[in-house]
Parts: sequence; structure tokens; C-alpha cells
Amino acid sequence: MDAKISKRPVVIGLEVHIQLNTKTKLFCPCSTDYIGRTPNSNVCPICLAVPGTLPLLNDSAVALGSRMGLGLYGEIQRYSNFHRKNYFYPDLAKAYQITQYGLTISTGGYLDIEAEGAQKRVRIHHLHLEEDAGKLVHPTEDGRLTGAAYSLVDYNRGGVPLSEIVSEPDMSSPAEARGYVVRLRQLARYLDVSDGEMESGSLRVDANISLSNPDGSLGTRVEIKNMNSLKSLERALEYEISRQNKVLDAGGRIVQETRLWDDAEEVTRSMRNKETASDYRYYPEMDLAPIVITDEQIESFKRSMPELPWEKRERFESAFGLSKEEIAILTEQKELARYYEDMVEAGAPPARAANWVRMEVLRALNELGGDIRSFRVKPGALADLVKKIEAKELSSTIGKDVLDVLARESISLDEAIKRIGAPLGRMTGESLGSLIDKIFADNRDVIDTIRSGEDKKGGKMKFIHGLAMKESRGQADPAEVSAVIAEKLG
Ligand code: ADP
Ligand code: MG
Ligand code: ZN
Repeated sequence: MDAKISKRPVVIGLEVHIQLNTKTKLFCPCSTDYIGRTPNSNVCPICLAVPGTLPLLNDSAVALGSRMGLGLYGEIQRYSNFHRKNYFYPDLAKAYQITQYGLTISTGGYLDIEAEGAQKRVRIHHLHLEEDAGKLVHPTEDGRLTGAAYSLVDYNRGGVPLSEIVSEPDMSSPAEARGYVVRLRQLARYLDVSDGEMESGSLRVDANISLSNPDGSLGTRVEIKNMNSLKSLERALEYEISRQNKVLDAGGRIVQETRLWDDAEEVTRSMRNKETASDYRYYPEMDLAPIVITDEQIESFKRSMPELPWEKRERFESAFGLSKEEIAILTEQKELARYYEDMVEAGAPPARAANWVRMEVLRALNELGGDIRSFRVKPGALADLVKKIEAKELSSTIGKDVLDVLARESISLDEAIKRIGAPLGRMTGESLGSLIDKIFADNRDVIDTIRSGEDKKGGKMKFIHGLAMKESRGQADPAEVSAVIAEKLG
């Protein structure tokens, strides 16, 4: 059976953990920059749960969590608190995780998503703050999940602030789940709340999926963990749809459980029976004061909100008249959108600038393996280049070569134009003369019109001039081209 086609309606709800961009951990002064550090070097008595230590809440995490809540049109709560979620596992030094439960920093809201060309609104249940756990390393010879002789624990990540965003079960296909994560990640990046990298674990998705019963009621759900890319998320959900359909077809029942996605084998495997809230003996964390957010704070969070991705898309449509596809690419990253807008501000025509950013800038970035933030070619320089092309001083082929030089070396636009061996006016004398003869011969009608004096507005003359510039690949001097044309017209 094609895993993408399910006999039974698919219901998906996602729990997304996003690491907040704070400098320090949620309750202690340790750094949040833990990747690649010596195991257990980014720790202190608080995050190691040494008896006698007390947590101290990081205000930036509250601000960032609220910002994300506002971006999702959630209701920021004036009063919320922390709970202890008790469980014994070596990734938690305290044997409980400090998390929000019941009273959370933001409730409700929604995110509009797009999947396979269709729009959809996914409701958000709530957003809460919690600390991350440490990392267990299970050394196996073949890198598999199971079969290690022993495990190692690294607490460097323990205590890093996360916001968990819990959706309502509003998605009905793996593509929609992907679309949701893509939009959520984009929002987090626009808001500077998180870098949202799935590969490095800054954004982690737990996917709940069930197949509905014939009477339309919700079926038993399974939670899948351990997907570290959008592709694995989709694959894991597709696998689960097909597995659950098979179980039900054979007259079996779905067990509520947590399953792990095995990226190498492309299967999900049962990890544990689904725990319920009562298993965790949640109770209020008495070592931390409740989080109180005033109306003034909420107002100031609102004032500091930047333009949101969908607002930018709308503005780009009305201001620049670009197509939806172009806008989607230009606004995917706010830094790229900024680059584009700076080019337009520097005088590049919007449609041309959009083409250059979409095709050439992204190509150059792809080749150089870099990011727009570190791109050598400043938007003003690219705007000047585009203007020269627009004025037919350079051909676009030459322009692309110039861009490539600028992208690799810190030199000026004029130097780059010289560098690629196409100084203006290199094509002169006889070769320019014969090029223009050829253009005259190929465009006899146009030349006749010009000669008869009917080209009052000079449009045809401009056309011939443009052709000469283009066919010289920008190597002729525009003034000389004009002179030669005038001479040949007699
Ligand atoms: P728990 O408290 O056990 O974590 P929740 O009710 O909070 O359960 O739901 C957790 C996630 O599971 C939410 O994202 C929710 O949308 C999703 N979910 C709930 N019921 C279903 C279902 N029948 N099918 C798919 N997802 C579901
Ligand atoms: Mg939950
Ligand atoms: Zn610490």
C-alpha cells in the first residue's frame, strides 16, 4: 500500500520543542552554547542538582517565550508557574524536570500553514517553558539505537531553556505536519527566538498520530520521537500511517505508546507504553516564584515585535508586485528579504532585483556554502550592477561573472568589471563596425524606419543600441556604439 494514501482519516498533533536563544540556561548561569564542548564541562552545582542549590529564573527566557506566544496569537498569561515532572532517568540529575503544567506562559492561538498548495489554520493548544535534559550517549559499534554495552551521560545541555509548543490535532497528512514545522521554524527565526536547527537539536518534534474510527471519532494515538529532519518527520509519519492501517486491517488494535523513529532502518519501534500525566506526579515547584507578567510588559513585548513572515509576504506583494513563488523564496529568511529590499532601495528595479536575488545570489551562496549574512556582495553594489545591466552598459552574462568575482573577493564593482577582462570599450574599431553592420542587416525594417525619420521617440534607436551592447557582451563602450550607429545611418 502506498503509505501516502490512508484508508482511514489521518489525525496528527505536534509537540515542538524550540531552544530559546538566551545566553544562559533557564535556572543557572551556565552557557547555552553546549555543542561540541567537552562532556560535562558546561555545568554548575545548580544544573547538576547539588543539594542545597536553588534555581533562579532567567527573565530572557520568559521574554522570548512570550514573544513566540504572541507570534502565534496566543493569550499571554498574567500568572503562570513551574511544576516538577518526576521521573527517574540518568539524563536528569534532579530526577525531575522543571516544566510548566496547567498554568503556562501562553495559551491558545493559531498558525496558518501551507501544504501542497493549500492553506490551513492549525490551532495551538498552548506554549510552555521547560528545561532541557542532558544527553545520553549509547556507544554502539554500528551507530544503532539499541545494543550498547553501557551508556554515557553528558549534562552540558541540561537546563537549557526550551519552549514547547503543543498544537491541537489539526493536521491530516505528513505534508501538513511538515508545513506546520516549516512555518513554526520560520516564525521562531523571524522573532529571533531560536535558530530552529533540527539537525543540531534546537528544534525537536514529537509527533502524535492516529487513524480515525469509522464513526469519525478519534482513534488511539501513538507518539513518535527521534526525527531530526523534516524528511524523517514525513517518513516516520508515512511509515506509521501504513503500519496502523495494517494493524487495523488485520483486526488488531492500536496500543497507545511512544515509538522511536529509526532513521537507518526507516521504521518506528516501540520504546515504551505511553505514560500518562499521573505517572509523573506533577506538583508545583516551590523553589521558584510564579511568573507574573504585567500588562505593561505585554505591551512592551508587543511593541518590540518585528514584521511577521506573513505580513512581510503581503507587503512584498503589494509593494513590489511579485508572484507568490518569488515572494516565498525572497522572504524565507528575513535576512534575504532585507537584502532584497536594500537593493530596491538602492535603485534596482523590483522585478529585476527579485530575479537576481532568487537566481544569482542564491546560486552564489550555494556554491560558496555561505549564508546571506556573510555574503561579500553588498546589496548596494549588486543594485549598481543591475542598474548597469538595465542601462545596457553590460550584458547580463558579463554581470553574472562580475557577481561571481565580487562574491569571492572584497573588491569594488568597477575593479570587478575590469577584472573579468571586459573593460568598457574593448570592442572597438573594425570589430565593432562589423557587429553593427550585422545588426543593421538583421533588422532592416527597423533601420528603414529610423532612416525615414519615423522613430520620433527614439525607441527603435534604443533597441538597436541595446542589441549592439548585448551582442558585444558588454565589451563595447556605449558612447562609441552610438557614434558608430550614427555614422552608419549616414
Ligand atoms: P498528553 O497530555 O498525553 O501529552 P495531550 O492531550 O496534551 O496529551 O496531547 C498531546 C499532543 O497529542 C497534542 O499535540 C495533541 O494535538 C495530540 N493528540 C491528542 N489526541 C490525538 C489523536 N487522537 N491523534 C493525534 N494526535 C493527538
Ligand atoms: Mg504532552
Ligand atoms: Zn549550570
